[in-house]
Amino acid sequence: MIAEHPRAEVDGVMVSVDHFIGGRRVASERTFEDRSPLDWSRKLADVSRGDAETADLAISAATAAFAEWAALGPAGRGPILRRLADLIDANIEPLAAVECADMAMLHESLRLRVLSRGARNFRAYADIAEAYEERVWSSNGTRNTVLRRPAGPVVVITPWNAPFMLSTWKCAPALAAGNTVVLKPAEWSPLSCSMMADLADDAGMPPGVFNVVQGIGEEVGAALVADRRVRRVSFTGSPATARHIGVAAATNIVPFTAELGGKGPFIVFDDADIDAAAKQAAGQFDDSGQVCLAGTRLIVQASIRGQFLERFNHFTDQHVLGDSHDPVTTISPMIHPQHLANVAAFVERARTAGDVIVRGGNVWRNGGLWYEPTLIEPKDNNSEVVQNEVFGPVLTLQTFVDDAEAIEVANSTNYGLSAIVYTSSQARADLAGHGIRAGTIWTNCFLIRDLTAPFGGIGISGIGREGGDYALDFNSDLVTYQVVEGSTS
Ligand code: NAD
Repeated sequence: MIAEHPRAEVDGVMVSVDHFIGGRRVASERTFEDRSPLDWSRKLADVSRGDAETADLAISAATAAFAEWAALGPAGRGPILRRLADLIDANIEPLAAVECADMAMLHESLRLRVLSRGARNFRAYADIAEAYEERVWSSNGTRNTVLRRPAGPVVVITPWNAPFMLSTWKCAPALAAGNTVVLKPAEWSPLSCSMMADLADDAGMPPGVFNVVQGIGEEVGAALVADRRVRRVSFTGSPATARHIGVAAATNIVPFTAELGGKGPFIVFDDADIDAAAKQAAGQFDDSGQVCLAGTRLIVQASIRGQFLERFNHFTDQHVLGDSHDPVTTISPMIHPQHLANVAAFVERARTAGDVIVRGGNVWRNGGLWYEPTLIEPKDNNSEVVQNEVFGPVLTLQTFVDDAEAIEVANSTNYGLSAIVYTSSQARADLAGHGIRAGTIWTNCFLIRDLTAPFGGIGISGIGREGGDYALDFNSDLVTYQVVEGSTS
């Protein structure tokens, strides 16, 4: 490890490019380049590239800080977590500036919606942890008590899309449960999580409780999840990476939660408000489709296909590709040239295989990292573009005749993260709610969340559930103790 690098200036905000371990900045000699998707020729920073030594240092710090943080109890931790939430809210502008430059999400949605959800996560989990009551009851002549105990150091590994908010979603319950955290953000958008470390420090988080390690997944990420002192591994990312991390967690017999990719069905029944459905469907291109929860498979009742498509095209025509700072822009560039190339290759394979490109299907002509909003009618349900996550602005269109077929097509991939349904029939909403193989099913809406509800995937979309008590249970050791009644006083 070497002396701290100078902070990088990103759109007027000074951001540390180094790790945050044990309450101080620590630098690696090796670095990796972080570029802006808004203008790939613009290097934002050379970021510390952690290795096995960095992972060891971070887990040591998290291990050393654990007992004291755990002993504070929910009431002692709550004020610090709420202070962190307040600091996030007070720093929305600099956070939005940096995350927009780093990941290219629309500046306005970062400012108005996405980042404040990070603050809400810390507040919500402080509340939920404080509200928990030990369960006590009598049976078989004994008094039984069930309690949650903090588990130990938790490794949190997160993806490049919405990196700040998605990281809070996992760090907040881990910290509220009394665990210490080592967060490794994705190497394609590492900067806003570095800012989270400064905010946690300012909020009074004791040294070693919250650590951020920067670097490449296969290097420092793999070293973190393999460390035997780690008590939980909490991962959001792709199924391919989850398979590697799952092996490490299984080797150490450590509980592992994985929120993975999606291939969400978007069903439109013939009784739906077609305008509302078509508008929401065109909205699946937002953030260039780099949204795990997006309903990317449009599954429309055959009798309304023409009507739906006309309205869908109308709303899609209103999208504006452009700079993420411009308030009129609705579609930002993709994160990385490599990801843009992956998306383009997906569409080319679909074209070659005989799927019909209904609209779009090209890299946007301006030379940047934008891809046109694209709709594909697949040859059949086995097409690669139907079965695999593209994670770009690419939707497919299929039709169905009756309710049973709608559910059958919806359930015909290995994914099961989320689904969107449009209908005016409660019976169809219930059919979808009971029948679609997905962790979250939205009817006549999208992305509405109650933080106390479980969230997670079925099939290759994930293992475990986040949200409310589900997340706190995952982050705790649940212990039962029994005392023979009358044997103690
Ligand atoms: P990814 O799996 O490539 O990387 C995710 C993280 O894992 C990164 O921080 C990366 O550095 C790290 N990593 C990679 N290899 C590793 C290894 N061997 N050991 C430890 N860590 C390693 O995913 P991505 O491309 O960053 O993100 C896109 C994926 O994430 C998509 O599939 C998307 O659907 C999914 N996602 C899911 C959710 C959800 O809530 N279910 C949310 C956002 C994104």
